[in-house]
Amino acid sequence: MPQQRLLFSFAHPDDEAFGSGGVIARYVAAGAEVYYICATNGDVGTVDEAHLKGYNSVSELRLAELDKASAILGFKEVFKLGYKDSGMMGSDTSKDPASLWDTSQRDLPQITRRVVEIIRQVRPQLIVTFNKYGGYGHPDHIAIQRATTEAFRLAGDASYVTDQPAYQPQKLYYTQIPAIMIRIGVAIMRLRRQNPRQMGRNKDIDVLAILENLEPTHTRVRIAEYYDTWTKASEAHASQYGGGGLLRLPTWLRQMLAPNQGFTRVIPVPAYNRVDETDLFAGVHLD
Ligand SMILES: [Zn+2]
Repeated sequence: MPQQRLLFSFAHPDDEAFGSGGVIARYVAAGAEVYYICATNGDVGTVDEAHLKGYNSVSELRLAELDKASAILGFKEVFKLGYKDSGMMGSDTSKDPASLWDTSQRDLPQITRRVVEIIRQVRPQLIVTFNKYGGYGHPDHIAIQRATTEAFRLAGDASYVTDQPAYQPQKLYYTQIPAIMIRIGVAIMRLRRQNPRQMGRNKDIDVLAILENLEPTHTRVRIAEYYDTWTKASEAHASQYGGGGLLRLPTWLRQMLAPNQGFTRVIPVPAYNRVDETDLFAGVHLD
């Protein structure tokens, strides 16, 4: 029987759950094989001592949380690339040579090659990664977006040699943070007299820049029925407070505000910037 295969390529243990848990649950429930590339160990994430109990390091804890979330979401396989988390742009950790960001600045082809090898092994018809702004400007998100976009093209190029034969996936998508949720977030911040250009623990997340860098929506996938699984997977990342913020709104409210998840279709290039699909697999030929 033809098998749908879908590969998500993100940066951190929690990106799969917080941003895409609903859509992953939907496609797993529909019988697709869903795979995850997690490029870093999440070792810069701030965690409370209480969560670290029983673990030797932050990365060990974060990868264990990823295993829990993966079991809930039902990934067929998770590929942990093991780069160090870079923290936010300009931080000391982003200058660590083992970090994903610093590696991408010196040697992007090294990261790209690892993604190509996984694409050729898994043979997904579809690949999903971050948008060019990395969702909210995180350097690791930008680095994996660049490597994945280049790997999408190279995987089908027979002159680019790896252990596996060339394989060309059919569609490439960027994820979107739902604009309505960001606008609600901005409104709450203004009520609290917080500056939406300086949010997060280190005041380095510019929430308005998320809106300014949104890309067109071409695909709208219904996920309202998968919020319970999404919430459980997010809660598996307990050291990150299950996502906090808007992910803590009651499930029924999030379901009502965002019953669909939007995507930007990068390949094939859309003729018009308008919503023309309700299924990522629309028009895909299964082998
Ligand atoms: Zn992330």
